[in-house]
Amino acid sequence: MADKQFDVVVIGGGPGGYIAAIRAAQLGFNVACIDEWKNAKGGPALGGTCTNVGCIPSKALLQSSEHYEHAGKHFADHGIKVEGLGLDVAKMLARKDTVVKQNNDGIQFLFKKNKVASFHGRGSFVKATDAGYEIKVSGASEETIVGQHVIVATGSNARALPGAPFDEENILSNDGALRIGSVPKKLALIGSGVIGLEMGSVWRRLGAEVTVLEALPTFLGAVDEQIAKEAKKAFDKQGLKIELGVKVGEVKSSAKGVSIAYENAKGEAQSLDVDKLIVSIGRVPNTIGLNVEAVGLKLDERGAIVVDDDCKTNLPKVWAIGDVVRGPMLAHKAEEEGVAVAERIAGQHGHVNFNTIPWVIYTSPEIAWVGQTEQQLKASGRAYKAGTFPFLANGRARALGDTTGMVKFLADAATDEILGVHIVGPMASELISEAVVAMEFKASSEDIARICHAHPSLSEATKEAALAVDKRTLNF
Ligand SMILES: Cc1cc2nc3c(=O)[nH]c(=O)nc-3n(C[C@H](O)[C@H](O)[C@H](O)COP(=O)(O)OP(=O)(O)OC[C@H]3O[C@@H](n4cnc5c(N)ncnc54)[C@H](O)[C@@H]3O)c2cc1C
Repeated sequence: MADKQFDVVVIGGGPGGYIAAIRAAQLGFNVACIDEWKNAKGGPALGGTCTNVGCIPSKALLQSSEHYEHAGKHFADHGIKVEGLGLDVAKMLARKDTVVKQNNDGIQFLFKKNKVASFHGRGSFVKATDAGYEIKVSGASEETIVGQHVIVATGSNARALPGAPFDEENILSNDGALRIGSVPKKLALIGSGVIGLEMGSVWRRLGAEVTVLEALPTFLGAVDEQIAKEAKKAFDKQGLKIELGVKVGEVKSSAKGVSIAYENAKGEAQSLDVDKLIVSIGRVPNTIGLNVEAVGLKLDERGAIVVDDDCKTNLPKVWAIGDVVRGPMLAHKAEEEGVAVAERIAGQHGHVNFNTIPWVIYTSPEIAWVGQTEQQLKASGRAYKAGTFPFLANGRARALGDTTGMVKFLADAATDEILGVHIVGPMASELISEAVVAMEFKASSEDIARICHAHPSLSEATKEAALAVDKRTLNF
């Protein structure tokens, strides 16, 4: 017999789960959230991958390493002399841990504020009953709770290289990559996706010699080709070595470091010896310990929970959201699904627009986009117009001392509706929001071109790129 009965039980307290729990509580439901993440002391650490070993700590280290790089390489341009510049990696990591804890604590506070019952431990399905689904919580103690509705938000785990499991000492996932104790002399990255490039950027800025090995023949294949090319140029200039089209062979870890055998794009046998290796070849949906068999929850061949467009699973009143289901593995996508599911449970019309989910890579230059790339539009046969504007011609970018990159607009050739916006350059992560709003409201490029943008601001490059669609830039 279960101890506690809830309207909604959320399994997983990452951005998908904790946001779903809060929204459901706001809508008047009696909500529990079960999360098993442990902090260094074994206590709860709400926020999932995103808060503990993902978005938040990576951005903390990206910021610290960017300050270091600026102090060493760019302050002099501003007439600022830095003598005795040094690095305290332990302090940098401790600051990152503080930022993580602030976020963990923040979510705990939000749970209290919204009266979400928080359970620390692993949640697993026991059975379906007339009262709802029985879920066993295994933590410091064991108890069983019942949810009329269950939202599964158990996230994802890093994919390991076959034959080279993570030891988090030499062969690192995102977890180990965020707590390397001293700057490695040589660092290799297998996989040039978002996570790999961000981690590589951190350690390169701090002084590591970084080599990226990518199996695909194209760099950042999902990114607009023109933007990816511009980013690659900047990364090459920074000394990030990127080898495309490689076939990774044996990976050996020893006390001395990691030795990687691979074939380059020409088919020549190569080997690379490094101090540390970060493997960043994608993430696997996580249903470990969930005991899906007990209730017959359906998974697909990738191990993701099968859901329809509304995040409904094959079981009545069981929903799944975030990294554990189809779609992009992004925190804000998980959050949007969490809100939408809570609203659907309340009989409202929750809605997630997959066409306007922004993507960001927090390298320098940052890369951000929303909507379709030029190559996607070509492939679909849609007639389009393109307009670009370089940051080189933007006053604020010049004042910042960062003129790399451009803003690019793609609009329908007949209606001028914005189909995609792609940015590589300073603060692309912030600039993309305007494009998301515009696309959500089905704006035309002319709409953006006619809006007054503050001067001097990087956002003027957005306006100018919109003007460029009609070949009428004012400052270029
Ligand atoms: C290094 C890195 C950087 C990233 N940067 C970004 C970024 O900048 N922007 C962005 O949008 N995305 C980023 N991501 C991706 C983002 O972290 C994920 O998309 C997001 O965390 C998914 O949220 P989620 O709620 O689905 O799952 P998660 O955040 O993975 O949370 C799942 C939670 O469920 C818990 N759990 C799992 N199984 C159980 C169980 N049976 N019982 C109880 N608890 C369980 C886990 O412990 C975890 O706490 C990054 C990822 C990494 C690795």
